[in-house]
Amino acid sequence: MASPRVRRFVGSFRPDSWPFWGIHLLAIFGVIFTGWSWAGFGLAVAFYYARMLFVCTGYHRYFSHRTFKTSRPVQFLLAFLAQTTAQKGVLWWAGHHRRHHKYSDKEGDVHSAKLDGFWWSHVGWIATDDPERDAIDRDRVKDLYRFPELRLLEKVNLLPAVILAVIMLWAGGWHGLLWGFFVSTVLLWHGTSLVNSLNHVIGKRRYDTDDESRNNWWIALLTLGEGWHNNHHHYMTSANQGFRWYEYDVAYYFICFLSAMGIVWDVRVAPDHVVRDEMRRPLPRVTPPVAPPLAPIAAPRMTPRLAPRPGDVVVVEPSTSLPQNG
Ligand SMILES: [Zn+2]
Ligand SMILES: [Zn+2]
Repeated sequence: MASPRVRRFVGSFRPDSWPFWGIHLLAIFGVIFTGWSWAGFGLAVAFYYARMLFVCTGYHRYFSHRTFKTSRPVQFLLAFLAQTTAQKGVLWWAGHHRRHHKYSDKEGDVHSAKLDGFWWSHVGWIATDDPERDAIDRDRVKDLYRFPELRLLEKVNLLPAVILAVIMLWAGGWHGLLWGFFVSTVLLWHGTSLVNSLNHVIGKRRYDTDDESRNNWWIALLTLGEGWHNNHHHYMTSANQGFRWYEYDVAYYFICFLSAMGIVWDVRVAPDHVVRDEMRRPLPRVTPPVAPPLAPIAAPRMTPRLAPRPGDVVVVEPSTSLPQNG
């Protein structure tokens, strides 16, 4: 009998997951058959990071955590640009992500590396068909569900990605479509998934959160700042996830830029006392210095009490306890 993890691994290749794996094969074999291209790779990287910016600011920091406010048209634009990455609609994304924070690394978490292993947390939970997981968690996204334009975008959630693919084909032919869309989209899926999988396994824990979230510098590089994931689990409603000056957080710099332009406002950041509330580290063990061996103390020369010798005058004190003569 196969273990649950093996059954889940096999289950993530069922027919309903074939479009997901088909895009992978298209990207890989497209590159193999047309040959490596540095210009193509540059295009893929450019569209990877350009769209990662909207995964971070759109799907994650705005729709999932409402870390800033903006107008309704910009809200729609953020949703549309995020959905060019083909990671389903913002309502689905935000609902599942809020659930992840509620049950992080516990029963109920949709993608826990700790409970279900790397494969499941990275791609298995997306590739495996599950009606409940495919549904929008309406109770968790009531604040977003009231916007009809977001509900409409949810119904046609792949449309923004298809429009981008058509633009790539029109502007760059097959080469543009392959690198600018298929290769960069596959990379984006895995870049985003790293935060769900390895960001709960590899890295340092600064805050004592009740999950396995970590701060990881190289995931932060690949995800424009999302890799400071232990900081984020410590205070999820902060628009910045890098809490120290050297914790680069490009998505937050972008939000600051939008704020300076008046496009977004009420940008929330973690208060100082929250940032300072670091995990108590065990005090360093102090080894007492080894004292030099003490020199032996010479005992004072004592005059031994001598027993009376013959010839000594012994004075006997009168004792009241003796009977008196007389
Ligand atoms: Zn997490
Ligand atoms: Zn989050």
